[in-house]
Amino acid sequence: MSNQQWDKSGFETKAIHAGYEPDEMTGAVIPPIYATSTYKQDGVGGMRGGYEYSRSANPTRTALEGALASVESGERGFAFASGLAAEDTLVRALCRPGDHVVLPNDAYGGTYRLFDKVEKAWGLDHTPAVLSDVEAVRAAVQPGRTKLVWVETPTNPMLNIADIEALAAVAHEAGALLVVDNTFASPYLQQPLTLGADVVVHSTTKYVGGHSDVIGGALVVRDLDLADKIAFHQNSIGAVPGPFDCFLTHRGLKTLAVRMERHCDNAEKIVEFLAGHPAVEEVIYPGLSTHPGHEVAKRQMKRFGGIISFRVKAGEQAALDVCAKAEVFTLGESLGGVESLIEHPGRMTHASVAGTDLEVSADLIRLSVGIETVEDLIADLDRALS
Ligand SMILES: *Cc1c(COP(=O)(O)O)cnc(C)c1O
Repeated sequence: MSNQQWDKSGFETKAIHAGYEPDEMTGAVIPPIYATSTYKQDGVGGMRGGYEYSRSANPTRTALEGALASVESGERGFAFASGLAAEDTLVRALCRPGDHVVLPNDAYGGTYRLFDKVEKAWGLDHTPAVLSDVEAVRAAVQPGRTKLVWVETPTNPMLNIADIEALAAVAHEAGALLVVDNTFASPYLQQPLTLGADVVVHSTTKYVGGHSDVIGGALVVRDLDLADKIAFHQNSIGAVPGPFDCFLTHRGLKTLAVRMERHCDNAEKIVEFLAGHPAVEEVIYPGLSTHPGHEVAKRQMKRFGGIISFRVKAGEQAALDVCAKAEVFTLGESLGGVESLIEHPGRMTHASVAGTDLEVSADLIRLSVGIETVEDLIADLDRALS
């Protein structure tokens, strides 16, 4: 079946079936890992199914790209070797030296470094803005010069929420495109293209892959002219994933819905536990009615995700001790896998922003809540906090 035939299906059906139909010759239910760089042609130019060379296209990648497009309610999907490779390809497809982009003031560190250290040297200017404040974004946009407004929601590690629909209107008024990095929410919880975004970006390394065993990235769009530009740059730049990486990512995507439900169930119970714990100063989670972005998050997300940040009362050393004492929660960077992770943003993921406006408080801990038995996770935190 073509992708369009899954358009009316539910999310889970799309995640499992879109992008691939059982192999004509063998009936293989799962896309084979096509470990081939080139393809036999039936006479000069006689390509079978359009396959010529695996930088341009590979059937294992085609299957993943079709599935990604479908689950994001897009028309075309593109897979990359990493989230940052996807971002760089997008920027070079859509921007030219002298152009300008608006970035979240609390953008993912690697994204900020890409714009500030790589794209800037190439002549692309950027302005950071507080994306939860629509008027601040309007003020940062330079009509005619700004080509992209780049959104993350929720953000890392403070889980700030941006209103995708409102920011799409601001970007479009100025003649810019709205890009949403949907890594933290995943396509199961949030569908930016249906809210007016032009491009969805993923680090599929996180929830989409979901098993902490592969690095990857993706772009999804609805507009076919935009798709053609991205396709040209994907092939011209060549930062594509190999077939085994595509297989792993696609295998992860099929169970995204059930994983996300469990990530959210576990996170909600842990939020409740932390909020009642005497050693905890503050719990940051968009599902809490006290969170400043709660109303917007409720409107644009199905549930509130698996990432929780919290502050401990006794300060930095106590936060470091909790990280060291946790056993079921593994001390490590990254997020979105089936296993729970704990980290100290001030010393780990956000050490490079110390001394800037984005410095995070030293008593802050970030959890990526996995899908283990929640009682074990709570007991682990209880032990680590005592
Ligand atoms: C991890 C991450 C990226 C970068 O993706 P890689 O796959 O590590 O290159 C971009 N954005 C967000 C929000 C991320 O969490």
